Amino acid sequence: MKLRIGAIADPGTSVVNLTGGWRTEAPRIEQTLCIRCFNCVIYCPESAVHYSEERGIEFDYDYCKGCGICANECSGRAIYMEMEEK
Ligand code: SF4
Ligand code: SF4
Repeated sequence: MKLRIGAIADPGTSVVNLTGGWRTEAPRIEQTLCIRCFNCVIYCPESAVHYSEERGIEFDYDYCKGCGICANECSGRAIYMEMEEK
């Protein structure tokens, strides 16, 4: 018997597994407090934090599971968690 629970069983299955559905709290950012340390990008277990010169730090809510690690590791205290309305 093949166990498939939590496994990346086939190529590409991590992309189609939208972990954003697990979320009860969502990270938000106050861009003016961001000091560009990029801890949020490095520590996010879902690679759901992105940065661009134009838009600063952004979250990919399709994959962000609301774990709060980014807020916890934020050097500038720019990220905070907010309860989501579903
Ligand atoms: S809450 Fe967790 S999953 Fe979402 S962006 Fe932050 S570290 Fe990533
Ligand atoms: S961890 Fe905080 S201060 Fe560092 S880049 Fe991310 S939002 Fe900015």
